[in-house]
Amino acid sequence: MSKKHTGTLSTEQWKIRLLAMRSDIEKLLAGHEEPRAQPESDQEVGDRAARAEAVLDHEMAAETTRRRHTEINRINAALKRLEDGHFGDCVTCDQPISPERLALDPATPFCITHAK
Ligand SMILES: [Zn+2]
Repeated sequence: MSKKHTGTLSTEQWKIRLLAMRSDIEKLLAGHEEPRAQPESDQEVGDRAARAEAVLDHEMAAETTRRRHTEINRINAALKRLEDGHFGDCVTCDQPISPERLALDPATPFCITHAK
């Protein structure tokens, strides 16, 4: 089994970092309260703008939650690659991802060329 060079951190250190990232997001998700029901307001029956804003708030919160779940999936995939010994390799071209890039985003599955 060859020792993989994945930047300056060991496999164990990457794992700790990824798990910490995941746990941070899980905390955010756990702390996320479902948007409360809008209070009925008879005097503002015609206030469509406020209503539209409430819908927008709700959608933005849902979008944030979706993004957090996506991020957790990325982190889980990175942890899987760590176990498989492919961590630090681009999933598209199999070339090593630069250590700078990994340091910035340890969960990234792509090298700079395939990031977009
Ligand atoms: Zn690539």
